[in-house]
Amino acid sequence: MQSTYDPKAIESRWYQRWEDAEAFRPEVNPDGEPFTIAIPPPNVTGVLHMGHALDGSLQDAIIRRKRMQGYAALWVPGMDHAGIATQNVVERDLKSEGLTRHDLGRQAFEEQVWEWKHARGGQIVHQLRTMGFSCDWTRERFTLDEGLSVAVREVFVSLYEEGLIYRGLRIINWCPVCATAISDIEVEHEDEIGTLTEFTYPLEDGTGGITVATTRPETMLGDTGIAVHPDDERYSGLVGKMVRLPLMDRLIPIVADSGVDLEFGTGAVKVTPAHDPLDYEIGQRHGLDSVIVIGTDARITEAGGQFAGMDRFEARVAVLDALSKLGVVGAAEEHHHSVGHCSRSGDVIEPLLSTQWFVKTQPLAEPAIELIKSGDAQFSPKRWENNYFRWMEDIRDWCISRQLWWGHRIPAWYCDDCDEIIVSRTDVEKCTACGGSVTADEDVLDTWFSSALWPFSTLGWPDKTADFDRYYPTNVLVTGHDIIFFWVARMLMMGVKFTGQTPFTDVVIHGLVRTEDGAKMSKSSGNVIDPLDLVEKYGADAVRLSLLQAAAPGHDIPLDEAWVEAARRFGNKLWNGVRFVTLQLDGAAVPATGGYPEAPVGIDAWILDRLHQVVREYDDLLDRYRFSDAVGLVYNFVWSEVFDWYLELSKATLRDPGRAAATKQTLGVVIRDVLKMFHPII
Ligand SMILES: [Zn+2]
Ligand SMILES: [Zn+2]
Repeated sequence: MQSTYDPKAIESRWYQRWEDAEAFRPEVNPDGEPFTIAIPPPNVTGVLHMGHALDGSLQDAIIRRKRMQGYAALWVPGMDHAGIATQNVVERDLKSEGLTRHDLGRQAFEEQVWEWKHARGGQIVHQLRTMGFSCDWTRERFTLDEGLSVAVREVFVSLYEEGLIYRGLRIINWCPVCATAISDIEVEHEDEIGTLTEFTYPLEDGTGGITVATTRPETMLGDTGIAVHPDDERYSGLVGKMVRLPLMDRLIPIVADSGVDLEFGTGAVKVTPAHDPLDYEIGQRHGLDSVIVIGTDARITEAGGQFAGMDRFEARVAVLDALSKLGVVGAAEEHHHSVGHCSRSGDVIEPLLSTQWFVKTQPLAEPAIELIKSGDAQFSPKRWENNYFRWMEDIRDWCISRQLWWGHRIPAWYCDDCDEIIVSRTDVEKCTACGGSVTADEDVLDTWFSSALWPFSTLGWPDKTADFDRYYPTNVLVTGHDIIFFWVARMLMMGVKFTGQTPFTDVVIHGLVRTEDGAKMSKSSGNVIDPLDLVEKYGADAVRLSLLQAAAPGHDIPLDEAWVEAARRFGNKLWNGVRFVTLQLDGAAVPATGGYPEAPVGIDAWILDRLHQVVREYDDLLDRYRFSDAVGLVYNFVWSEVFDWYLELSKATLRDPGRAAATKQTLGVVIRDVLKMFHPII
């Protein structure tokens, strides 16, 4: 054993040795009970950040421990194709050559993205290895690989056939720069100061007007109604009357709707069904038209009359100007409100009425709620179950189509001659109704659609593979609380729907890694700690140890580099302790298990007693995913009791010929069991 602890050399040497020995494959324990974790697939564009480091350290601790307990432990790794993120990366490259994806055309562009993936994507896979994570790399999957694409199509077509996927007109989040619908998780809400301006629409009968307020005056071009609360006495005489919409000269009704907030503004709201989700609902309830006045290019459409062609923000000013000239503008005040921005481009999200594909989620949510209620699956910490129930009971239909080129193409074809829409597991050439030619749907699926199938698609479903039989359902899912709804909930819905079982039993939710003063790490704040820098400086084991030491259930981790430094010092201490014992044993073998002295006395009896107690407590804590308590327990035991006391005191008994043999034996088994407790961690 080398005299100094050199984590970098040791870590890479052992990782290679384990991988060569196929130690990460579940087949190393062929007779063991299966135990499976599917990794939350990082984006193919991703680079390792502290969140991955924590997430992976937790999973590796669980899987290594199960492997040691004799389970056929399988940790399935893989990556997500990350539709919009990946497409943006390649589009940026093209832009530097003065090209857009449209210059290349769809097929050539897709080929270019695949080329990018092979040449430069997936760095993160190497970085996960650097962390020492014991994934079974022979089973690595990619959400766009052939097998997973079959699973995606199977699920889409089945849901469509059952009426659980439909095409419809709904309000979606539209990013004008990315030119696609995006999911709620891709929208970042920022508090901004806008101007809330009042204006008055005249009643048709000439008896006065009704005053409304908005921060988006340009949307008034698309107003098709005014809504008031049914209990609002101020307006009880006006419900049912018509007002004349200024600038557009259109008659629109005043309706009573309990969705209106009595307390806000004047209590009367303009209703723009095509550009606001709540207005859309009000519009649906009262049969109001939806007039699209802002197009996908963020410009005013032909329906916007004299403002057609104007950019939406120019139109905001121009519409207000024109209304002022009509003398209908009233008070204006500063207004703090939350504005959605695209997390990729930063552009302001436009709520837009658009024809998209949707999953009807409510029928899928009910059995998924039941999985948790019945205890088939459980969250740890348990308190997250309440959030889960709240989200699931209030679930909205899920917009799954994206106007992108990189992703799973929607398996739908439209007849060029009749109205037929054909959704099929295999590609379609001719209309099944009239025999006419067909055009394929241009859109791809939301990336979360394929990740929702991850626990079973990675094991070979829909084929009845040996892996699916043996390793499904998986046992544990480890993830952050920020994607419980977007990912965990959808896996539960799809898992129970298509396999009849929960996709995993335990959902272990961890917090976020923050800066030492508790701030969120972000590129824009320049306070991001790169785990690979820490690995370079202190070794991967020090990073893992410090993260797990701090991983109290569900709590955020304010990471202090001093912790990692301390973990590195601990590694050194452990190294020296093991080295001391090895020298004492002088080549004598320690059995892999058992081998405890039969009738220990004195300090030997004491330390063995403590050892057995610590092992029991440690196991119990890890069974309950109390990582920080478990690590703290064994850390303190080793440092204070084994090293500071037992090793020191043993120096005397080792010199006593009557005691030396028993103490050597004790030293051997104590150090062996300590290393076993540490193996899942470092
Ligand atoms: Zn965008
Ligand atoms: Zn047809």
